[in-house]
Amino acid sequence: MRKIIALNLKMNLDYEEAQQYVDFIKNKISDKHDVIIAPSFIYLDLFKKSGYKLGAQNVYYLDKGPFTGEISPLQLKTLGVSYVIVGHSDRRLHFNEDNKIINNKIKGALKNNLNVILCVGETIEERKLKKTAIVLKKQITNCLNGIDKDALEDVIIAYEPVWAIGSGETPTNAEIEDSIKYIAKIINKGYDVEPRVLYGGSVNKDNIRGIMGINNISGVLIGTASINPKSMISMLELVD
Ligand code: PEP
Repeated sequence: MRKIIALNLKMNLDYEEAQQYVDFIKNKISDKHDVIIAPSFIYLDLFKKSGYKLGAQNVYYLDKGPFTGEISPLQLKTLGVSYVIVGHSDRRLHFNEDNKIINNKIKGALKNNLNVILCVGETIEERKLKKTAIVLKKQITNCLNGIDKDALEDVIIAYEPVWAIGSGETPTNAEIEDSIKYIAKIINKGYDVEPRVLYGGSVNKDNIRGIMGINNISGVLIGTASINPKSMISMLELVD
């Protein structure tokens, strides 16, 4: 079945590297899956040439106004972006984004017909205290507060345990499967919608096939392993 592969380049690549990246990946898009690439804002226009679906790594929640340094959902939409990553743990951790802010961002994005990739996941302390389920439920319920069933069709959940991001460690495939099931249950119960759920956190060439094969997974969100275009393409070939 067609799956989503979202690539989060994070704050990487200088201008020349970004140009080389685009040149390298052009015409090398997976036919089998929907591949979304999220470079830094300043390279979004450049990445249009890649032919990949465009994602943004962040978004503000209002369309315009005196918010120096912010990028609006309207601006992203008119640039050709179709997905936005919201609630990433980098933003929660370094920029103090809480569930209320994330909820506003999701509403702003959905109002502009952008698809949302909402990241949720527990920290290592929460995992050790066996609080994963409580954390996931709270994040999902608060981030999706006030969003109606129809709009929810455009929201994809990315289960990203904070301790797995960039660490080289991952939960077992059985644990990922359980979390996906649990997330689907929360959303199904609250909204009567079958959500698409991705996994993110240290996906790489060695584990991508196994992870993409997990029951009910809708795809993956990949950070570090997408930064080098050559290894990113060879990794995607493993699941094409
Ligand atoms: C991410 O930043 O969303 C991510 C999944 O990163 P990594 O693949 O490096 O763990």
